[in-house]
Amino acid sequence: MRTPVFNRIALIGLGLIGSSIARGARESGAANEIVGTARSEKTRARVVELGILDQVMETAVEAVEGADLVVICVPVQTTGAIAEAIAPHLKKGAVVTDVGSVKQAVVRDVEPHIPDGCAFVAGHPVAGTEFSGPDAGFAELFHNRWTILTPSDKSTPEAVGHLTEFWKALGSNVEVMAPDHHDLVLAITSHIPHLIAYNIVGTVADLETDTRSEVIRYSASGFRDFTRIAASDPTMWRDIFLANRNAVLEMLGRFSEDLSTLQRAIRRGEGDKLFELFTRTRNIRRNIIEAGQETEEPDFGRGHPLASEND
Ligand code: NAP
Repeated sequence: MRTPVFNRIALIGLGLIGSSIARGARESGAANEIVGTARSEKTRARVVELGILDQVMETAVEAVEGADLVVICVPVQTTGAIAEAIAPHLKKGAVVTDVGSVKQAVVRDVEPHIPDGCAFVAGHPVAGTEFSGPDAGFAELFHNRWTILTPSDKSTPEAVGHLTEFWKALGSNVEVMAPDHHDLVLAITSHIPHLIAYNIVGTVADLETDTRSEVIRYSASGFRDFTRIAASDPTMWRDIFLANRNAVLEMLGRFSEDLSTLQRAIRRGEGDKLFELFTRTRNIRRNIIEAGQETEEPDFGRGHPLASEND
């Protein structure tokens, strides 16, 4: 077992991400003591049953008492309210972080509540699945994935250092960048792909209703992979699009222009243009596989929970 990075950590929110951090921290020895809470009695009771925490508290205020690291693992629009509630109860010197998929809005909502003597470093583990809740979590979720830390005014170099060490102990690689840069990068790599998946699955569902056709029966031809992404948690993704509105709209503009170019190429029968793009995109996938961020298996390894990925 390694030397713990933090003595006591408190997890606020015990769904896929919170429960995976709990499991990863325990397995790696990154924390001496792991406590936490969730909104509903049902989730809290389930986490007690699973035995993945040392103690489950009824409220966030109780959970953060004496904690050296507090990790807020709730939908992004809720993060500010949690920060406000726990702020007066934080231990002096505590580090607060989060795992939200959008960073500018979280920094804006959380920082004003962080008391002097405590530090806040926003974070985003770019790892996940389309499943939610404490049963969906697993210790290896962060292995060989990236965690992005986005320091801001209330961050200290020591807090960034300790948090980096913590995420590395959970098997993650760590990158530091500005919150606005994070939001732009994630808009195109994660948020727009989810929007496309939600849209295409919605279109197909309407088509089925309108025409009573059998599109879903023949879905293995590509549509199926969109349905996996479009099964992602509705609350989480509603919050992401609202919180990252500007970056998403900016990237959606570019995407629409490129789509129009493709539309024109198809209409004009310009096969060379299509071929050139499809060749370039094939190379991009090769690069992703070479970077260890995907598997080459025909089903993308989706049969195994460790291989499915989302963020
Ligand atoms: P999840 O499985 O749905 O879990 C959310 C947890 O937050 C649940 O335990 C829920 O409690 C709790 N919660 C919600 N509102 C709360 C409140 N007001 N007070 C206390 N607890 C509250 O979601 P998740 O996938 O872990 O996502 C959590 C965060 O991680 C989100 O901000 C998301 O953007 C980010 N993230 C997600 C992924 C992914 O792929 N899923 C990847 C990277 C980052 P109940 O169970 O009692 O309702």
